[in-house]
Amino acid sequence: MYKHTNDALDYVTRSGVKKPTIIYSLTVAAFISIISSSCTLLTSESAGGTRATKTLPNLVIILADDLGYADVGFNGSKEILTPEIDRIAKNGVRFTDAYVTYPVCGPSRAALLTGRYQDRFGFTTNPTLDPTNATAGLPVEEQMISEALRQANYKSAIVGKWHMGTHPVFHPLQRGFDYFFGFLGGFHQYFPDRLVLDELSEVQRMGQWGRTKIMENHERIVIDDYLTDELSDAAVRFMQKQVVDDQHFLLYLSYNAPHTPMQATDKYLSRFPNIEDPTRRTYAAMVSAMDDGIGRVMKYLQSSEIEENTIVVFLSDNGGARTNASQNIPLRGYKGDLLEGGIRVPFVMQWKGTIPSGIDYTEPVSSMDIMGTIVSLAGVKTKHELDGVNLIPYITGDEPGSPHEILFWRNWKNKDMAVRRGQNKIISSTPEENHEFFILTDDISEKKNVVAEHQKEAEQLYELWEKWNAPMKGRAFPDFLDDRWWEKNGK
Ligand code: CA
Repeated sequence: MYKHTNDALDYVTRSGVKKPTIIYSLTVAAFISIISSSCTLLTSESAGGTRATKTLPNLVIILADDLGYADVGFNGSKEILTPEIDRIAKNGVRFTDAYVTYPVCGPSRAALLTGRYQDRFGFTTNPTLDPTNATAGLPVEEQMISEALRQANYKSAIVGKWHMGTHPVFHPLQRGFDYFFGFLGGFHQYFPDRLVLDELSEVQRMGQWGRTKIMENHERIVIDDYLTDELSDAAVRFMQKQVVDDQHFLLYLSYNAPHTPMQATDKYLSRFPNIEDPTRRTYAAMVSAMDDGIGRVMKYLQSSEIEENTIVVFLSDNGGARTNASQNIPLRGYKGDLLEGGIRVPFVMQWKGTIPSGIDYTEPVSSMDIMGTIVSLAGVKTKHELDGVNLIPYITGDEPGSPHEILFWRNWKNKDMAVRRGQNKIISSTPEENHEFFILTDDISEKKNVVAEHQKEAEQLYELWEKWNAPMKGRAFPDFLDDRWWEKNGK
């Protein structure tokens, strides 16, 4: 069950990662001790106590959009090479069983950015992009990762796709971020000459949402390059400023690649002359552009000598989609499904000098754990109890067992549900009946429904799901495909 990619380390346990060496363990213990003492200093000195917060790690979250589980080198792709993303895995940990909380963009991101199941606050669908709707976004009562980290004097940037609401109350600069370079909606055109609208209020038909000019903070700006390249450049610029200021930071680099529309430049298309299917070829080029950009981000961390004080995570917001020619093999299903192909995502983390390198961690983890990890390390108290946990002690082996005994999903729109406990999973599109039961160790592709042999456990898992689901909220706002808001405005 355990694979590892670093011959220097020896892992033999079945569950959780065995401590690689006692030296790692001591390093982490020493680090956490430093963090604890620095947080005490932070409290006792002042909110601006830079000396006290210098040891806090930076966090770089790199999010791909609709990237297939199989379409990265570290998950075995031979067709689409991703050397830069693979380096993160080589330098750190590959999570083989990493999940997002929902199989499409908006709700998945709402959980990543709050550390909580999005169902707790009704973010159960992609919100309408109506810029006059002050309910269609991440509720202001919720605390985002950026807002939590302000308590520890982090500077935060969101570069790329926001999708947490288009009304001014949901703007990134209202939500704890200090810098925004990107767009507010859920997808975007990549070629600069297509970005012609000044505001979403100018939209006159479905799909024009992706044609707004890029925003830098509150300003609309004109860009010159392919959008993915522009986002990578903006990410590096933000980090450069933080390094000059000797400032610890959160960078949320939220690429829209390789989400539709399928658009790539010749520079990247020329790398894949052997892919015949034009959609797949363009997809590969879009992934390759993102990989180049991630390479620039990683090289900057190295050259500015902040690599060892920076946690980097890379993941996709949901599984590969049917529309962009992505591949989730050997997982079954796509974006939109609660099958593994919709919710199990490529996910790697590096933190040089603190967590082991070149290993696989095979217990289930969640995108919610990113916030769980950083708020724990930064010693900040969150407004709400989180569903995400600090992964670091599990990775190092200081904490035995699994970060999540059980994980739950519901697709409120389709009435689908799923539960994973250990290696066992139930899934149903009619929650109260017809559960399918899969044992993922033997059947990662979810092809052998063994519910007949596991009826009792299936019922038990469903009961647990019902308990989890009881306090969850219904849809808080209209779906973006259901709401023709520009027509209501007389357009
Ligand atoms: Ca997505």
